[in-house]
Amino acid sequence: MKNLSKNYINGQWQDWSGDTIDVHEAATGEVIARVPSSGRAEMEQAIAAADAAFADWSESSLETRIKVLEQLHAGLKERAGDIAEAVCREVGMPLKLSGIIQAGLPATVTKTYLKMLPDYPFTEQSGNSEVQYAPVGVVGCITPWNYPLHQVILKIVPALAAGCTVVLKPSEIAPQSAYILAEILDATDLPKGVFNLVCGLGQTVGDTLIKHPAVRMVSFTGSTRTGHLIAHAAADDFKRIALEMGGKSASVILPDADLAAAVKGTVTNCLQNSGQTCTALTRMLVPADRHDEACELAAAVMAKMTLGNPLDEATRLGPLASAQQRDRVVEYIRLGIEEGATLVTGGPDAPEGLEQGYFVKPTVFGHVKPDARIAQEEIFGPVLCVIPYRDEAEAVRIANGTAYGLSGAVWSADAAKAKQVAGKLRTGQVFVNGGAFNPLAPFGGFGHSGIGREFGKWGLEEFLEVRSLQL
Ligand code: NAD
Repeated sequence: MKNLSKNYINGQWQDWSGDTIDVHEAATGEVIARVPSSGRAEMEQAIAAADAAFADWSESSLETRIKVLEQLHAGLKERAGDIAEAVCREVGMPLKLSGIIQAGLPATVTKTYLKMLPDYPFTEQSGNSEVQYAPVGVVGCITPWNYPLHQVILKIVPALAAGCTVVLKPSEIAPQSAYILAEILDATDLPKGVFNLVCGLGQTVGDTLIKHPAVRMVSFTGSTRTGHLIAHAAADDFKRIALEMGGKSASVILPDADLAAAVKGTVTNCLQNSGQTCTALTRMLVPADRHDEACELAAAVMAKMTLGNPLDEATRLGPLASAQQRDRVVEYIRLGIEEGATLVTGGPDAPEGLEQGYFVKPTVFGHVKPDARIAQEEIFGPVLCVIPYRDEAEAVRIANGTAYGLSGAVWSADAAKAKQVAGKLRTGQVFVNGGAFNPLAPFGGFGHSGIGREFGKWGLEEFLEVRSLQL
């Protein structure tokens, strides 16, 4: 078991001897690490360190920042194996996927900023004014457990590149990769206090971070419930916020689409990381006369996905990340049955032979009513709702008929038609006929899915204030 009873504050590892939080292996339930349940005092110390470091870091040269990010990039590549395994165990993400998304994508994102920064216009001319883009100040980063390092990197890299100093509070459920990140940053030329890591519970250290007056921005990824608390706290002090929250994304399959390909694409997306993905396509909208066929196809795709220990190479679907998350998802499956949806495959019972650990059967519900709770609320598990529609206008109405607006998909044999319908979806991104994920495209949500954008120049600009000098 790993003893991670320490915080990284002002360039030093500080041992912690108070209460700790157990980190569990998702496939077995075993305790694999312990991290501090830090107090408000540790968080205040970290914020003070970030505040003290801001003056110098905010005035550091772009070359200095680029050098540190290059060192970070090299470190992420070097530690890729450790990162992939840590996240695989604590989240339950299949090892190969963990290698791609937790180890590979953070390095790719860092590289995209390294490529962009030399040419980014930190000053520009507008008439007789010089417009300057200045770092926003001390940033509090609060992250969830489902893609733990990826979500941290999307905040830390642009924040440091902008000249901000940072206090990171990672998820207490999946904190190990944040420790690896701190080890990597500790070995770079980053001055002390610019990056700080404090582990603990949201209601204590998270609460201190979002309310502290020295913190000028909170960049958050997590649930809409916590996003509300952050927005309220920020309003009291006019802090900047960037919120990346939940989703209930629709995959709209138009009548002329290749149904088998569209269903396969939807199900594969929906089940990635066992459905614990904010952008998961969890509502599949199909023409009413193809509903039964679509349900059968979805069940067939799911049946081919091997459920098992995420460390096994053959595993496509791992367990959920925690007992609490498993119980939540099982409750939603029971609710779906109560609400009268048709259980096509799966169900609330633990999969045979996998009663240990946090496994849930991949589940398809058919004939789901658009306003049913399972079609409106984020389940965050391997559950697909198939919703029949009569015509295109109804499909668009159903797709836009939730409080969320994070992602979506449209499938049609006619590319122009697919693009036209995609433009009607009130979401931050839409995948058209299975278009590939692009780390240079802005990512974020409409409505209750979020405020602000991550990735690329949009991600950087979240951390910049604008100043104009009239000359
Ligand atoms: P969560 O909101 O419970 O926790 C996220 C983080 O917030 C954790 O670090 C937690 O400790 C902290 N937190 C909790 N209460 C807090 C408080 N009172 N004050 C300050 N911080 C507090 O979310 P989760 O369960 O860890 O993550 C799952 C959610 O994240 C899902 O809803 C999912 O959709 C969302 N998510 C969104 C995106 C996106 O980019 N839109 C990406 C991944 C996950």
